[in-house]
Amino acid sequence: MGEIVDLILEAKYVLTMSRGKNMIIDGAVAVNGDRIIDVGRRDEIRKRFSGEEVLSYDKAAILPGFIDAHAHNSQTLLRGVITDHEINIPPIWLRYLIPYESLLKPEDVKLISTLTQLNMIENGVTTFLEAGSPHPEKVAEAVEETGVRGIITPSTMDMGNVPESMKMSTDEAIKRTVSLIENWNGRADGRIRIWFSLRELILCTQELYFKFKELSERYGVGVTTHISEAHAEIEFSLERFGKRPIERLHEIGFLGENIVLAHAAFLTSKEVKLIAESRANVVYCPSIDHMLMAPPRVPEMLSLGINVALGSDGGFKTGIDILSEMRLASIILKQYYGFPFHDRMGIPAEKFLEMATSNGARALLWDTEIGSIERGKKADIIVIDLSKPHTTPINDPITTIIYAANSGDIKTTIIDGKILMKDKKFIHKDLEKILERSIERASEIIEQIKESLNQNVY
Ligand SMILES: [Zn+2]
Repeated sequence: MGEIVDLILEAKYVLTMSRGKNMIIDGAVAVNGDRIIDVGRRDEIRKRFSGEEVLSYDKAAILPGFIDAHAHNSQTLLRGVITDHEINIPPIWLRYLIPYESLLKPEDVKLISTLTQLNMIENGVTTFLEAGSPHPEKVAEAVEETGVRGIITPSTMDMGNVPESMKMSTDEAIKRTVSLIENWNGRADGRIRIWFSLRELILCTQELYFKFKELSERYGVGVTTHISEAHAEIEFSLERFGKRPIERLHEIGFLGENIVLAHAAFLTSKEVKLIAESRANVVYCPSIDHMLMAPPRVPEMLSLGINVALGSDGGFKTGIDILSEMRLASIILKQYYGFPFHDRMGIPAEKFLEMATSNGARALLWDTEIGSIERGKKADIIVIDLSKPHTTPINDPITTIIYAANSGDIKTTIIDGKILMKDKKFIHKDLEKILERSIERASEIIEQIKESLNQNVY
């Protein structure tokens, strides 16, 4: 009889995503409180520990939870509203996102964030980085209740073509984020962190870029921003600064290890090099990037050592489904790089798993605690069932997960040592109510923004 711990998880495969020993066959993880106490072979763990609860799976893989490094907690009610005729960011922003976000009330943000976070738990996403939400306190309240881990940022715009209700002065933007940091950073047993967010180069003053960079260093937090995501933005930057967006951010000393650049799609080779030199992080959002932007230069980024994480870009158009993003990325990058250049190097499947776990943790400045299954780290763990016809035989678990499994195979999700979905059953007690209320509220909101959906924004 070994040391008693809260939970032991066992499965045919444990993919630790730590450097060195990455895959354990017939593995197990011992969890006590919010921490991983040990990881190793099933027989060794069984000898050393006995669990108050034991979740034992056979043909399954235990992995660290996925990290969505570019989430929009409150956009999920727009699912299915944005038509496939939109192939560019500006009309989506003007026609859909502005009218929608501008009328969200605090209680809407709480409701939608709860829905979004339940979607994350369902799909094995254990941590997110919010790109900038209205009423961010409500995103935080949802995190307290759902049990996920997240970095929350307020939506910050201090210039540009947006309604006054969504805009704030530069001073207000600073005060708002600083007070959020002071009141919320570290809450929910450390599951909540607060960062700075700059919505877009065309919507934020240069002063705000300077101030947020300086304050992020003072508070030891990061900054996330959308960048190089539309032709209009590049044109704006060239007109205003005589430089492309990344060149400009480099020139003002903004780029660095605590900066997370979302999309970074329309880049020149020179800009890729500037990101690499500065050690800033990039979030690749495959579905949205490939639907609405240029193909991001991910192979080049990886070869220059840039830390690339994965993001869903929220649920406004696609799902919050990091596993399907990995498969899409793997296939589509082969078409852009493998086929035209007959580049046999390609990007192996495990690289996408790294993007979704350890790279995500590094981008979020949280890699000492999450992103891999290692002794002493937080117990953010998922179990993927590989016992179905579509995942049989498992000749190689990583290839099976990326190319054959889907998010419906995610059976169990554990965050901070708490089981939030067990064998596909949610622990959240109000699931049905949240789903019903979301349907009701979505139709009310869509009715209210009906006129703007058809406006001519060109
Ligand atoms: Zn975004």
